[in-house]
Amino acid sequence: MLQTSVAIDSKLPWVGTTIFTVMSRLAADCGAINLSQGFPDFQAEPALFEATLRAMREGRNQYPPMAGMPELRSAIADKVESLYGARYDTDQEITVTAGATQAIFTAIAAFVRGGDEVLVFEPVYDSYVPAIETVGGKAVYAPLDFPDYKPDWNQVRALISPRTRMIIINSPHNPTGSLLNADDLAVLAELTRDTDIMVLSDEVYEHIVFDGARHASVASNPELAARSIVVSSFGKTYHITGWKIGYVLAAAALMNEFRKVHQFNVFTVNTPCQLGIAEYMRDASRHLGLAGFYQHKRDFFRAQMQGSRFELLPCSGTYFQLARYDAISDQPDREFARWMTREVGVAVIPVSVFYQNGRDDRVVRFCFAKQESTLAAAGEKLRRV
Ligand code: PMP
Ligand code: GLN
Repeated sequence: MLQTSVAIDSKLPWVGTTIFTVMSRLAADCGAINLSQGFPDFQAEPALFEATLRAMREGRNQYPPMAGMPELRSAIADKVESLYGARYDTDQEITVTAGATQAIFTAIAAFVRGGDEVLVFEPVYDSYVPAIETVGGKAVYAPLDFPDYKPDWNQVRALISPRTRMIIINSPHNPTGSLLNADDLAVLAELTRDTDIMVLSDEVYEHIVFDGARHASVASNPELAARSIVVSSFGKTYHITGWKIGYVLAAAALMNEFRKVHQFNVFTVNTPCQLGIAEYMRDASRHLGLAGFYQHKRDFFRAQMQGSRFELLPCSGTYFQLARYDAISDQPDREFARWMTREVGVAVIPVSVFYQNGRDDRVVRFCFAKQESTLAAAGEKLRRV
């Protein structure tokens, strides 16, 4: 091992390895069923692989344009228009990214300056605040109230200051599975009216909403869309989290700034996967069928949990199910998650990691993006706890 003599003044002194990596590693070490990190344990459809392989074989293996392959941007434009009624310009208002994480980091780096405030909702997805702090911004936390996890817009109003540069929203929400609706977006539009506050809208679970609800995309609210960067990820939609491909939508002037950073951050994203996805997504049933597909898994997993001592919270979207465990243990959730992995054989995510002050409501997150056999095997263990 090399020993460095360089004095390190960490930009992120409080940050360790992400909980997803930590819990997946622990699950592997213990041979536990991994319901912690969010990824499917089943395959995408062969048609996606065939389209991608065809692109490779046809020699489509060199740099694509910086903003992404035109075929993919045009498929995205068509999908967004048909779902949300907004026509984003293929050349100037859509950029393909190396997943949503890169999109979010790049958006923050492009717009947030040292000392700027960025409002986030807690529990907050773990990549936002480190990105804000890396560029010298300051996260300001608005609560999503337990156990409904809905925003309190009056509190948001009170937290907005002259230094607020950006508000980050995430619906469907990870880790809670709660949704924003069109009324929430209308309030946000009103709160930001006549300001220079931008909205960064993380919509990676846009196609995973349940019980007949419609995803309220910022793209469907023209006033909000004009000040927003909308982020999505193909990883969630087509069961390919390891491909790390997503996209952003934004008004041309905002996108121009986004691309200034993007081009020196990743420049662009691998060509054949973009072409494979472009072809595959032309069949809209593939993303439109996702809500039913995951609703079935949610219901299957919830049925497995019946008769257990976990108390399930509502799940309106995403592929995550929260549960309280007060009836089982009074351990803090991080300890409980480790105990579950080691002793019960089912790995989960402790929800307190999504709070900056470590708030612990004794809630853990299960990922149900798994085969029924996996969920049934987990259910058997969980009912015995
Ligand atoms: N935002 C949220 C809310 C997520 O849950 C995830 C990943 N699970 C991401 C962003 C990152 O997506 P990607 O893997 O495309 O970087
Ligand atoms: N977003 C995924 C989750 O919530 C994990 C992504 C990651 O491992 N960084 O589980």
